[in-house]
Amino acid sequence: MRRPTLSPSKITTYLACPTKYRWTYLDDRGKWYLRSKSYFSFGTSLHQVLQRYHDASDTGVTTTEEAIAALEESWIDAGYGSQDEMMQALAEGKSLVKNYTERIQKEPVTSETIYIEKLIKMDLGAFILQGRVDRVDELPDGSLEVVDYKSKRSTVTEEEIKFDVAMGIYQMILEHLHPHRPVLTSIIALQSGDKASVSLTPEEVSKFREDIISIGDEMLNRDWENHRPAFKPLCHSCDFLPLCRKDPEFDYAAPEPVE
Ligand code: SF4
Repeated sequence: MRRPTLSPSKITTYLACPTKYRWTYLDDRGKWYLRSKSYFSFGTSLHQVLQRYHDASDTGVTTTEEAIAALEESWIDAGYGSQDEMMQALAEGKSLVKNYTERIQKEPVTSETIYIEKLIKMDLGAFILQGRVDRVDELPDGSLEVVDYKSKRSTVTEEEIKFDVAMGIYQMILEHLHPHRPVLTSIIALQSGDKASVSLTPEEVSKFREDIISIGDEMLNRDWENHRPAFKPLCHSCDFLPLCRKDPEFDYAAPEPVE
């Protein structure tokens, strides 16, 4: 029998709300309530361009002008409220691509990109843990750096990376795939170019692995048939609220009116 796969998105969704995880990944009814989000379109459009820019085999996108043209070509316009909103986002995207590529061109080239948008996996017994890394660079000392782009962020701190489930998973899987190579995880906040990096200690990775196995076990063995939604502040901004409110026992607390 094929073993289940868990990913950073599945685990992060589950930790935010188990019911949200159920509607997103397990129960077909959820798909009728999911609205397309402009920030997903924006992020995906930018990721595609940066992927091409860093891909040495893609010789069509090597300059700032080519990167901007590639953004226009592959722009995804789903989820925007109006044409104006979409055009504003495109202008913002072009400015981010321009600033990013100009900054990169000024930096000395000391590392080599070895993976782009690569699916990496690790067998954790009851399930396969897998994630897609934006980019992995090999640094001059042989260590590996996972680079993750955040298109809507203007700041990032080491503390945030340390507690980021996805970044922990990427470090753990890469260390597994490349034993004896130190692994560093970095986030670039594309709005400002701000970058922070963290490398968890072997003890932290080992504890993190135990936590992921235990959370995965809970996700896979939960009694989903009898699972009931429970109200939390996140509900106010959740697409699935109408679905959860169909449950007669769902205790919905309307937001306080703004004075
Ligand atoms: S509405 Fe609330 S309980 Fe239901 S899925 Fe969303 S966050 Fe979870």
